[in-house]
Amino acid sequence: MKPIYTTLLFLFSALSFAQTDLRIYDIINSVSAERIEKDVTTLANFGTRHTLSDTISQTRGIGAARRWIKSEFDRISSNCNNCLEVFYQKDLVKKGDNARIVHDVWVVNVVAIQRGTKYPNRYIIMSGDIDSRVSDPADFTSESPGANDNASGMAGTIEAARVLSKYQFESSIIYVGLSGEEQGLYGGKGLAAHAKEKGWDIVGILNNDMIGNITGVDGVVSNTDFRIFSEPVPPTETEQQRNARRFYGGEVDGISRQLARYVYQTTKTYMPEMNPMMIYRLDRFGRGGHHRPFNDAGFAGIRIMEAHENYTQQHQDIRMEDGIAYGDVLEHVNFDYAKKLTAVNAINLASIAWGPPAPETVEIGGIVEPNAKLRWSKVDGAVGYKIYWRDTTSPTWDNYRYVGDVTEHTLEGIVIDNFFFGVAAIGKDGHESPVVFPNKIFR
Ligand SMILES: [Zn+2]
Repeated sequence: MKPIYTTLLFLFSALSFAQTDLRIYDIINSVSAERIEKDVTTLANFGTRHTLSDTISQTRGIGAARRWIKSEFDRISSNCNNCLEVFYQKDLVKKGDNARIVHDVWVVNVVAIQRGTKYPNRYIIMSGDIDSRVSDPADFTSESPGANDNASGMAGTIEAARVLSKYQFESSIIYVGLSGEEQGLYGGKGLAAHAKEKGWDIVGILNNDMIGNITGVDGVVSNTDFRIFSEPVPPTETEQQRNARRFYGGEVDGISRQLARYVYQTTKTYMPEMNPMMIYRLDRFGRGGHHRPFNDAGFAGIRIMEAHENYTQQHQDIRMEDGIAYGDVLEHVNFDYAKKLTAVNAINLASIAWGPPAPETVEIGGIVEPNAKLRWSKVDGAVGYKIYWRDTTSPTWDNYRYVGDVTEHTLEGIVIDNFFFGVAAIGKDGHESPVVFPNKIFR
């Protein structure tokens, strides 16, 4: 009895090996709240990191801040046998480009690329912002610690680089500090243009903007809720694609939405104590973030952030008014929470960079038939594929079938009209590509 039982148990665990990767738990455990606190403190202590602030001083202003960020990336790189390519990417913005650009300024991003071994030109990006602001967006001299907005996202990005640089990945990971966010999303615009020019194959950007506040203006205190913002469909879609959507669906299935679902699912799998909230919109009402210029360029991009904001602690002169302490100061940042959201990023970067690319084309058929049919382009490096489907009203890919290493499959008895479908490629360690919504029809 016993040997058979043991054999069965072994077989069972062999069959289920692909469900989770133990390295992902190590990554979660390696993220340090203490290091994030240290880095947020360092960033806040530059006094102001306003995009138009001093660039000469070694202790104050955005120049000192970006040099420090570069030196941190350089230090991380020297600890991993120079595994990071660290450089400045910059663009000159002329005075008057908008009302917030009151003098000519170089908008300088700090980029660190961890080169993938198998798909060096395929990139998944994590970003935070270097710059900060106070009440007047053109005030580039006042104290502007920007501890939560957005030293938290910047420190999380540096910490993710520290943790993930201990591993090797098949795809490249970019860790980036973007500047000019508060002046009009300039840094993101610059890097997205740079990516286009260089022909980077971008899976998407995980933009972190405010990942440290747990006490909301809504009265809710939560260190597990967080939001994933994603736009429904890309702004670059053609008239033809828009028309096709009317008849075939896809209003809530753009590439950024699939990336949001990916982050949601990875979090649910590996950090079930967290409460990811997918928000079906580009960003908060009328407000902006650095994923948008990537979306504008046709790339997938999402915003990861706290769920409960406090507006008295954003974009405010530091002051006391009617008994309220205004200002984005260190005391309001919860570093354990910033650690958790950093871990959310790190495990998704790892999972995407360990996983294969997504199939380029996914075709769907089965009109006026009892069976839905899917076929897709083969992915070099995939060991198999999953067909996902869900009720048309569901936000998440609730059903799947692993179909092995084939490039077509018929779902018997599942009627095409009643569900949405997609296909993901699966790698040897079980890591998946984002789901691809069908982009072609066959009869
Ligand atoms: Zn801001």
